[in-house]
Amino acid sequence: MNRIQTMPKVEIHVHLEGAIDAETVFEMARRNGKRLPVSTLSEWKDFYRFTNFSHFIDVYAAATSVMLTPDDWSFMVENFVKNQAAQNILYSEVFISKSMQTGCLSNSELLAALSEGVSKGEKQYGSRVKFIPDISRHMLKRGKVCLNSFCSAKRPDSSWSGSRRNRARIPPGSISRCLLRKPKRRDYI
Ligand SMILES: [Zn+2]
Repeated sequence: MNRIQTMPKVEIHVHLEGAIDAETVFEMARRNGKRLPVSTLSEWKDFYRFTNFSHFIDVYAAATSVMLTPDDWSFMVENFVKNQAAQNILYSEVFISKSMQTGCLSNSELLAALSEGVSKGEKQYGSRVKFIPDISRHMLKRGKVCLNSFCSAKRPDSSWSGSRRNRARIPPGSISRCLLRKPKRRDYI
């Protein structure tokens, strides 16, 4: 290992769904009976190494299509923490694309799964994680649902994403009112 790999680090901008290793995604596809664009782990590892942005989108779409159950999310987070620790990343601030998941899992299921993955991962590997719900500004209705759900349960660290066009068209004030509400509990988010 070189000096950069071994030095202690923090990572303050990483997207959970895009940072899951190929083996973990392959295992979730197997468990869930979902087909990936290729059939063997070795082919999947090759496919997973994206070559350009369009290929990255194909990889991302295939990978996120197998992230389905609470067990998947807990498993993903635990393995994410393991991989961060292996790179001597002591602390990570992790974006989670909450806007894309409304409808897949209930908020309480998702939060419980994240919590379980974090506590298993931190206990085993010692690297710490906090989440930032990444709320797409152009999906305003979903954004409000996300904010309400996170505000009601957790500390409201939040982030907005979107194209410049959406930023101009949809000002942040429309959803920031949700943020002004006091959170009921403070926890790991
Ligand atoms: Zn980003």
